[in-house]
Parts: sequence; C-alpha cells; structure tokens
Amino acid sequence: MLKINLEGKLALVAGVADDQGYGWAIAKALKQAGARVIIGTWPPALNILRMSLDRGKLDTKLADGGELTFEKIYPLDAMFDQLSDVPEETSSNKRYQNLGDYTVTGLRDAIEKDFGKNQLDIVVHSLANGPEVQKALIDTSRAGYLTASSASAYSFVSMVRWLSPMMRPNGSFLNLSYMASEKVIPGYGGGMSSAKAALESDTKVLAFEAGRRHGHRINSISAGALASRAAKAIGMIQLMITYAEQNAPLQDPLTSDDVGNTAAFLCSDFARGITGSVVYVDKGMHAMGMAVPAPYNQGSPK
Ligand code: NAD
Repeated sequence: MLKINLEGKLALVAGVADDQGYGWAIAKALKQAGARVIIGTWPPALNILRMSLDRGKLDTKLADGGELTFEKIYPLDAMFDQLSDVPEETSSNKRYQNLGDYTVTGLRDAIEKDFGKNQLDIVVHSLANGPEVQKALIDTSRAGYLTASSASAYSFVSMVRWLSPMMRPNGSFLNLSYMASEKVIPGYGGGMSSAKAALESDTKVLAFEAGRRHGHRINSISAGALASRAAKAIGMIQLMITYAEQNAPLQDPLTSDDVGNTAAFLCSDFARGITGSVVYVDKGMHAMGMAVPAPYNQGSPK
C-alpha cells in the first residue's frame, strides 16, 4: 500500500487559530501522516486558541481515531521580521505583552532552541490579512494595500528567508493561494488579489532560489472557497461557496480535509519532483470559463 509517511518529520503550520480554517485541516493531515506538528498563532488570537484547546472545544479527532496535539504553540506575527520592526502601537498592545519574540526571526530562534538546529522539515504558511478586503481595489488606500501584501505575501518570503537556512535538506514549504490572483473575483478586495498574485509569483522564484541554495521545495495550493474565520471577514463567502457548488465540475462541497490531504502529499517525499507549482484544490472551479446557467447548474451537465 502506498501511504503518505511523514514519520520523523517536524512540521510548522503558521496561521492556526481555530478548527475552522485550512491551517487546522493541514495540521491534522500532517499529524495523521506521522509528523510532529508545531504551530504559529497570531498574538491577538493566541489566548482564545489556548482556552478553546484547554476546554476541549476544538475538533482534535483524526480520521484514524488519533488526536491532534501540538508539540508547541508559538506566538507569531508574520508582519514583522525582528522586534526592532514592531511599532510601539503594536508592542504596547496588551495582547502582545509577555510573549517574548513573536517575529519571524524570533520564531526561528525559538524552534532552534526547542528542537535543535536542522530539525525542521515542513513549513506551511496558512495566513493572510487584508484590513480593507471589503473595499474594491479601486477604493483601497495605499496603507491597506501594502498591509495586505506585507501580511499575506511578503510574510511567506520572510519565512523562507529566515527558516530555510535552519531546515533539514529536502525540506518543503507550502502556501495557500486563491484563484483571485488570476481571475476577477468581485468582492475580494483591499489588494488581497494582488497579494495572492505576488504569492504565486514568489512561489516560483523562491522554488528556484531555495532549491538551488538549500535543496528545498516551494509550492502553493490554490484552494476553493471555505467559510473560515478569515473568509467570513470578506463578507460574501457563502455566495462564493454556493457559486462554486453550482458551477464547478465537481459539485460535492469542498472540505478543508481535501486541502489538508493534498498538503500532506505535497510535503511528503512522494512529491519530491514537485516544486514551483500552484496546485488547484477547488473541485475544478478554476477550469471553468463560463457560469453554468440555471437550471443546469443544479445537477449533471446537459
Ligand atoms: P483562517 O482564519 O483559518 O486563517 C488565517 C489565519 O491568519 C488566522 O489564524 C489569523 O490569525 C492568521 N493571521 C492573520 N494575520 C496574521 C499575521 N500578521 N501573522 C500571523 N498570522 C496571521 O482562514 P483560512 O481561510 O483558512 O486562511 C488560511 C489561508 O488560506 C490564507 O492564506 C487564505 O488566504 C487562504 N485561502 C482561503 C480560502 C477560503 O475561502 N477560506 C480560499 C483560498 C485560500
């Protein structure tokens, strides 16, 4: 039997704050494949995540009957590379107090201290933030656009930059993109479409650079719409999901596990020949060039 086996591998999933999003499903799949999993959580969401875990409020059940547990939960604000970059307004915020170094280099140092040098194998970037996502691009401020790019695209460059040198050979990086990078999705605003386009382009360039320099692979999953906490902030996620179910080649609902399982494959040695790729996990939605008119969008093609 061909079985994804990540035993002996240490995986970091950045962008886990509850059990509704892609990061959680990816953490579950990696764990079920045998990896040890650590997570990075945005400081404003950290307390509530810890409380929900302590109170057993999150779905930690694995498909094989096992349990999702984390070796470590690190605070991470991927907007910042080192503490000297953090503005006073953020560092003095009570949710950022007493956390130590929550920047990307702080995370690198903490992982190295806790697990040793050259122990990390897998890094998943499952985070995004666009403060003006509900505004059309044409109405987006420069500050909103740059924040979306910094939090959602440069954060990945930064993670490859700082983590790649301390990872084991054959390491694997993965990020999560969305079709709005290449086609117009009305309502996905605030410069988030631009950030996803940058993220996909960076995936290719970093695949070359980190491949040559460190032997690491860099891939992206372009995922279909899911009603995660972040997606609900867009304000029209349910419309996007219904549209996909009516118009995609496969009409059964996309689940976060569909993405989690693909992520586990891409991070495994079975995917050793895959780098610089954007893999669609969207029930085929990206392949469509026209909406399926009613009533044909309800069932099999006519
Ligand atoms: P989510 O809410 O589960 O994940 C987003 C995470 O980003 C949250 O945990 C949030 O705390 C974290 N975050 C925000 N700003 C951060 C920062 N500065 N530093 C560190 N963490 C930060 O939602 P999700 O939809 O599962 O999003 C995960 C990834 O999947 C994102 O890249 C998103 O764009 C992508 N994606 C989502 C969809 C969808 O429809 N939900 C579709 C395609 C791609």
